[in-house]
Amino acid sequence: MRRTHTCGELKSSDIGSKVCLEGWVRFSRNHGGVAFIDLADRYGVTQIVFDPEDLPIGADTSTLSNTLRTFTRESVVSVNGIVRKRIAGTEDDRNNTGEIEVLITSAELLNKSAIPPFEIGDQKEGALPNEDVRLEYRYMDLRRTEMIHAMEFRSRFLHLARQYFESQRFLEIETPILARGTPEGARDYIVPSRINSGRFYALPQSPQLYKQMLMVAGLDRYYQIAKCFRDEDSRKDRQPEFTQLDVEMSFIDENDIRSCIENMLAHVWRGLYNKDLQTPFPKISYTEAMEKYGSDKPDLRYELPLENLTNTFKETNYGILKKIVADGGIVVGINVSHTILKEKIGRNDVDRYIDLAKRFGLGGLTWVRIANEELESNIVKYFTPKNKADIKNIMNAKDGDLIFLMAGPKRKTLEGAGLIRKQLAIDLDLIPKNTFQFHWLVDCPMFEVDPISGKKDAFHHPFVLPYDNFKKGACFDILLNGNELGSGSMRINNPEVQVEVLHQIGMSDEEIEKNFGWFIKALGYGAPPHGGIAIGIDRIIAILLNKETIRDTIAFPKNKKAQSLVDKSPSKIDDERLEELQLISLSDNDVDSLTMEEYTEE
Ligand code: ASP
Repeated sequence: MRRTHTCGELKSSDIGSKVCLEGWVRFSRNHGGVAFIDLADRYGVTQIVFDPEDLPIGADTSTLSNTLRTFTRESVVSVNGIVRKRIAGTEDDRNNTGEIEVLITSAELLNKSAIPPFEIGDQKEGALPNEDVRLEYRYMDLRRTEMIHAMEFRSRFLHLARQYFESQRFLEIETPILARGTPEGARDYIVPSRINSGRFYALPQSPQLYKQMLMVAGLDRYYQIAKCFRDEDSRKDRQPEFTQLDVEMSFIDENDIRSCIENMLAHVWRGLYNKDLQTPFPKISYTEAMEKYGSDKPDLRYELPLENLTNTFKETNYGILKKIVADGGIVVGINVSHTILKEKIGRNDVDRYIDLAKRFGLGGLTWVRIANEELESNIVKYFTPKNKADIKNIMNAKDGDLIFLMAGPKRKTLEGAGLIRKQLAIDLDLIPKNTFQFHWLVDCPMFEVDPISGKKDAFHHPFVLPYDNFKKGACFDILLNGNELGSGSMRINNPEVQVEVLHQIGMSDEEIEKNFGWFIKALGYGAPPHGGIAIGIDRIIAILLNKETIRDTIAFPKNKKAQSLVDKSPSKIDDERLEELQLISLSDNDVDSLTMEEYTEE
């Protein structure tokens, strides 16, 4: 080992020792012939001093001084020196090395840095360059304390998770990246096969079918820190490739999967925070989440529930509401009680919520205020006495409360009201900081119908075990602070049921055979009852570290346009390669899968 210590290690007990440190020149300054250098590495910063007056007898002052002149910012250097007490203790000591400094006796420039594209030292967020610059020079961005911390935290999290699974007899098994497509609701990234020309692999959207086959194989407890790939149009804070903690178990039920994850997280919690995590996590049904909070991933750190006012508006003189209800729509209300309102939202602010509702495509949002136990607003005159009494009762309205009313088609209105609820919580400062509230979303439907295309699709994916005559799926989501961290389910292990579910989402026998025949065949060889879950690692780390984007938890993320700026990918490839891969004339690419015989012929 060349260095004797890291840059975050020396303390007063080391005073007098001869040391060798290696690291990056973060900052240097000169005070009347005395030079100070902040030498940094992953572990911290140590102050290095060059003081010609204080050098040991015989030291080559001029060589040393010339070497130090080459120590430009972010160059990587090696210094030898003696630890001494720091004369003026610094206020800004971030690294426990504030008691000491190293009096330099010899130094070497290991490698010069080009002029850094931005300042690396600790700085206010606002001083950072735009994200594209950070991503282009990611190796520099990762030198920042905040990024180092994110990488360390993520590594520690994964280590603790692995530790838990290993202690529970799980096997860590890697599944293929060059794979057959697995539907998880996005497009596949495809990879052409040169050897099997005209054919393609898909990068897995998840290891779903492989992990299920591992259960058929009898390897009854599997986990993997798995890379998943989904080619989605840029959606907020998603990455084309991301990491899931992927789990599958046999001879279990839904509750076993949930407790396994609760116990794993409790173990991670103790390791990270030295605290107990409250388990089991509370459950909320899909229907309650939608109807009470207007979201299938409600943030339950605050209340602000939606109340259903549809019934009362069956009879009203307010034509718009009457028509909405007659057409099968709903009316919901949110009561912002005077106890939380505290004048934070005035009359003029209400327009902002109306605007937000409009942008979401929710036609009607209006409001009433309660004063002297009466409803007040310009629409109240159209309400019947029963309308007024019902609103007051159902909304539990008190003087000073502000009530938002939203109406329209059911799903759209609930989701719109959910958005308004969220915005209100932000504006009213209702969201507690540093609280981690896990929940399970349970009792989910098996299928959902896309409101635009009318197409019926699996709510999660088509491998979920249906029950209640295919109305419900044995699936659930894990939520944290209003974010979906992942989902899990019991799986179909009966080939006929699997075929039926695929039929129900509109696949023909032919399509089923072509796309999933191989998998349904596997289910026919004694597939045990099994189930599992996958948890998004990037997302959970981002929430725990309070990051606005998951990109800040990933060493080399793609930007919002799915580009990797550091290596300029995706990139064009030569025509020669395209020809070799038979990608030039794609139109007649209608080849079936290789038969088993064709594979074995090789
Ligand atoms: N494969 C699912 C997903 O990626 C998770 C699971 O059901 O295990 O969302």
